[in-house]
Amino acid sequence: MGEPHSRSSRLGGGPEPGCRPSPPSQFELFFSVGLVIWEEGAGGWSNMQCSTRRMGIITDVHRRFLQLMMTHGVLEEQDVTRLQKHCYKVHDRNATVEKLEDFINNINSVLEPLYIEVKKGVTEDDGRPIYALVNLATSSVSKMASDFAENELDLFRKALELIIDSDSGFASSTNILNLVDQLKGKKMRKKEAEQVLQKFVQNKWLIEKEGEFTLHGRAILEMGQYIRETYPDAVKMCNICHGLLIQGQSCETCGIRMHLPCVAKYFQSVSEPRCPHCNDYWPHEIPEVFNPEKEREAAGVSKANRKSLRSRQH
Ligand SMILES: [Zn+2]
Ligand SMILES: [Zn+2]
Repeated sequence: MGEPHSRSSRLGGGPEPGCRPSPPSQFELFFSVGLVIWEEGAGGWSNMQCSTRRMGIITDVHRRFLQLMMTHGVLEEQDVTRLQKHCYKVHDRNATVEKLEDFINNINSVLEPLYIEVKKGVTEDDGRPIYALVNLATSSVSKMASDFAENELDLFRKALELIIDSDSGFASSTNILNLVDQLKGKKMRKKEAEQVLQKFVQNKWLIEKEGEFTLHGRAILEMGQYIRETYPDAVKMCNICHGLLIQGQSCETCGIRMHLPCVAKYFQSVSEPRCPHCNDYWPHEIPEVFNPEKEREAAGVSKANRKSLRSRQH
């Protein structure tokens, strides 16, 4: 986890809010949110217009949390909870910690006029809850434009297409790299393209497993709508939750697909799994349901260790 202060200096050096040309680019939009957070003393939030939805009560705790979400882009729920606690500890030690859902709703009520939202999703492979700061103003790949050059964005598009078209939801690095000659913009060598793919992984747009790439939950949260609209004939949907499906299991008889976490939940208490559509035997291994209790227990053990260490020190 990054240092809480790591981004503030960068945000502080930008243009004055309110002096932007209209409409602002996505980058400027994000940039200005950062400025508003840190220039709240000048009445930033209270001056904002929000007529449709009742705004929540935003304190320094929420502002710090949002700033850290901007730094990370996407986080697992346990890290989000940890982050929330950290922000209370730093800014309002005596306040009651708000329920995470209410806390996020509060923040979203203020972000609404900026078309930004903290969105909850789950990872496709094991159903872990994740939260991403999502830009709702555009759902296309262009939302990555502040971090990537034109040819890099096109590489992402090519990888995305291969992933969507594949049966498994994965595209091999070889297949992606074979397309570098077709990229728009500046010419890119294969070696460079490999590095750009790694940057996509670091920025949590792609996940790499044994040389194959698939979409990160962040990309699905951010670009789900764009993907459905752009590749209507190639996209796959889950038979259980009806959401966009990139990787999952499929019925060998009728061809319906299910997310792994949906498979896990659907067959949780069934002795002989059968396809929910054609009733044929479900031949795949049934994954385990994600259990936050187990995760908490594991985290609790390490916390208890830290506590006993502290008590020995005092
Ligand atoms: Zn599903
Ligand atoms: Zn079937």
